Amino acid sequence: MNDVEPKKILIVEDSRLNARITADILIKYGYDVETVRTGEEAVEKVKSEQNLDLILMDIELMGKLDGIETARLIQQYKDIPVIFLTANANKEIMEKIKSVTGYGYMLKGVDEYVLISTVEMALKLHETNTTLKQRERMFQFYHHLFENSPNEIYIFHSETFKLISANRRARENLGYSLEELKEMTFFDLKPEIDIQSFKELLAPLYEGKREFIIFNTTQRRKDGSTYPVELHLLLLEFAEEKVYMAIVIDVTERKTLERELQERNEILSAIMKSARDAIIMIDDKGDVTFWNPAAEQVFGYTKEEVMGKELHRFMIHDESLYQRYKEAFKKFQSSGKGSAVGKTIELKTKHKDGHEIYVELSLSAVKIKDSWHAIGILRDITERKKIEEMIYLQSITDPLTNIYNRRFFMQMMEQEMERTRRNGKPFSLIMFDIDHFKSVNDRFGHAAGDMVLKSIADTVKNRIRKTDCFARWGGEEFIILLPETSLKDAAGLAEELREKLSNMTLPEVGHITASFGVASFRPSDTIDTILLRADDMLYEAKAAGRNCVKIEK
Ligand code: GH3
Ligand code: MG
Ligand code: MG
Repeated sequence: MNDVEPKKILIVEDSRLNARITADILIKYGYDVETVRTGEEAVEKVKSEQNLDLILMDIELMGKLDGIETARLIQQYKDIPVIFLTANANKEIMEKIKSVTGYGYMLKGVDEYVLISTVEMALKLHETNTTLKQRERMFQFYHHLFENSPNEIYIFHSETFKLISANRRARENLGYSLEELKEMTFFDLKPEIDIQSFKELLAPLYEGKREFIIFNTTQRRKDGSTYPVELHLLLLEFAEEKVYMAIVIDVTERKTLERELQERNEILSAIMKSARDAIIMIDDKGDVTFWNPAAEQVFGYTKEEVMGKELHRFMIHDESLYQRYKEAFKKFQSSGKGSAVGKTIELKTKHKDGHEIYVELSLSAVKIKDSWHAIGILRDITERKKIEEMIYLQSITDPLTNIYNRRFFMQMMEQEMERTRRNGKPFSLIMFDIDHFKSVNDRFGHAAGDMVLKSIADTVKNRIRKTDCFARWGGEEFIILLPETSLKDAAGLAEELREKLSNMTLPEVGHITASFGVASFRPSDTIDTILLRADDMLYEAKAAGRNCVKIEK
């Protein structure tokens, strides 16, 4: 671009005639010309005019500033070549010119060829100077990068491995001076590799098959200590020679972190392995990603069987329950939230071999790479559940006859009163008492009496419905709650039971009978009033000679 644009020359000359002559010549040769008459004007011009290429400067000027002082001022803030013009060259002037960066001088009124060639030479010289200065600056910049790189950088000979240079970081870390390093080979810093393997390692680089090579090794400092490094190697052409550049990254910290991470992983995995609770993890698709040994124990599936499979597909056997889970999981996928997350809940599920197991589940959510995963810790509580169930059953059962006890019966009565009030369907009660039971004990002993009580309980239990509640009311007295049963139907059942019992033949004891009282719910009833009526009817049956059923009016 600069080639097409004409060069601009400023003439500083107090004689208009001289200025005119010089300008004419320059214009003839295609230059742009501007003229000023004093040093002060010249300084102003240089300040305001951006693209001046050269100044022709008269030394003897009429203002305060002479040409040399003007040039000095100008050169303080702009790099413009100056050619001095003088009418009479003498020693004193020549000395003065030396104090500024001049591009030569000419006597005024010289031949046009001398003028033009001096101008051209000055322009060319200036251009070369500028380029050199730029190169120098570039060199300084790259050298700065090299020296101040946070990584160690080494340059070494491709044949001999002799070190040519090493940056500050390298020298400081190693503890060698550049002079010492220049006496060494890069290989001297490598305690781990023998020269043959090193050459083999570099071969693909040397043969141009690879652009760079990265490998991990160790470097040795001057004091003998070593440190782990990641080595990046490149082959470069430098002054018609092939050299290697090695960028060395100290990975001590990375290695320490890796080791710490590995240790933590080992601890974690030891915990997971030895945990007695099942630890299960599923990813954002619901597929199993973790399954510890305890999980194998609790559920019967091996890790190999379940990894990568959808957990709930093989754990939930009920299709509608599975669909409900699917819906809930969608919410979990997007938010990591769910009704069971962050809580402990009890679940009933199945072992691989089909038997039911109870588990206590603590569920938590964890975000991995922007998606929600779930971690479940599950404890097998089947045993506990069984014991709880047993204790509960014991608490509601009469131990001798294995039917309900009086306390549970009262609870059922309360529920039944509620239900009847809600749906208007009345219930009935049958109360019965064994006749002359005292004499059974007296004649055959208490154990035989117990046996009789058991047989009677079994017989009655086998006859009544599942929904009926049959309990031992006390001693040899029993009671049956018959939901949604009319007085008439209850009476029928009582009669049937009476007959059944009287026909029973009991080992040793022979025959027994019982007396029955029947009552049915009335809207005005409380638990006490209806129980009292059943008891009254039983009393009436006893009074009427026993082995009969009395029904309230
Ligand atoms: P009644 O026909 O008037 O009912 O005469 P009963 O002898 O059956 O009535 P009573 O109330 O006089 O006696 C009840 C007897 O039942 C007294 C008691 O020893 C006996 N008994 C109560 N509970 C048990 C039990 O658990 N085992 C045995 N073997 N006997 C019991
Ligand atoms: Mg009795
Ligand atoms: Mg009695």
